[in-house]
Amino acid sequence: MTSLYIHIPFCKRKCLYCDFLSFPDTEHINEYFDALIKEINAFDCKRVKSIFIGGGTPSYVDSGYIVRIMDALSRYNIDSNAEITIEANPGTLDLEKLKTYRSCGINRISIGLQAWQNDLLKTLSRIHTREEFLENFENVLKAGFENINIDLMFSLPHQSYDMWLDTLENVTALEPAHISAYSLIVEENTPFYDMSLDLPDDETDRKMYHNAIAFLSSRGYKQYEISNFAKEGFHSVHNCVYWQRGEYKGFGLGAASLIDNCRMKNTENLCDYINGATVVESERLTKADRMAEYMFLGLRMTKGVSISGFKKEFDEDMLIKYRNVFEKYSDFIEINEDSIRLNEKGIDISNMIFCEFL
Ligand code: SF4
Repeated sequence: MTSLYIHIPFCKRKCLYCDFLSFPDTEHINEYFDALIKEINAFDCKRVKSIFIGGGTPSYVDSGYIVRIMDALSRYNIDSNAEITIEANPGTLDLEKLKTYRSCGINRISIGLQAWQNDLLKTLSRIHTREEFLENFENVLKAGFENINIDLMFSLPHQSYDMWLDTLENVTALEPAHISAYSLIVEENTPFYDMSLDLPDDETDRKMYHNAIAFLSSRGYKQYEISNFAKEGFHSVHNCVYWQRGEYKGFGLGAASLIDNCRMKNTENLCDYINGATVVESERLTKADRMAEYMFLGLRMTKGVSISGFKKEFDEDMLIKYRNVFEKYSDFIEINEDSIRLNEKGIDISNMIFCEFL
């Protein structure tokens, strides 16, 4: 079973904090989709269990382009209950677009709201207001979407703890099936990096995170990954593939793939991609690489990593292989009969622990 990712790099405007491969562009959209369809047509795969159309802002382009992508993908053997997601941003959606998505088989939508307060949205240079989000959300329901994710961010400039709680209160009142909540990371190659930002301190950041877990749990959202929360049965099938090292193929600019233990990456150069160049990096993973990935990707999930699964895949005893790490971080991990997971303190220093496996 394979999962497919399709990257649409276009956005209406670049947000000040964003370091994704995305940009405003109206000139190359048609050529880009031609190249994308060519790449899809040149690939053969087994059964498909999930598809994720991400970006960028896939909802920014005319829905006819999305229909073309779905038509091209229909040559594959797509499972009848496959999860098919599209990412969307408020300010680029209308009811007609949403109905088109539904009619071509898309059954999950991930909406980038980020914050409830219009002042914060402006600080982030988002293109939308809360009111536009609410109007879009209503249309998402009208179009028949039941599997809806809302992306949120905390630790934002000028964001108080109460503003974050207010965001959570209002968003959970809408009862989406899934919520993602990420702490803002100010990346070096973004405008935010050179700005003097009034950010919440570390203590407030952690308070926002831990109280979000408790609050979301009280509203029926179970945390299943460091930043992801879902109502029963609505975890993201596609993202779990990444964390569990399942096979996936990425199409489009800069898209990554993992096939037969080989990691590949497409070019990030738009002209090269349009002219037919695709994979520019390819690395066959060694057993050591695969074991490390098993650990640092799997530990992102709250259920942790399976000790017997590790033995089955690598014929090695995880407890012996990583004994030094487990001893060093014994206060931060929980060892159960057949699993190892990060505890609450471990999640706070997860990046430090993950580095130990490299
Ligand atoms: S909409 Fe998303 S992908 Fe586009 S610039 Fe903003 S954060 Fe980046």
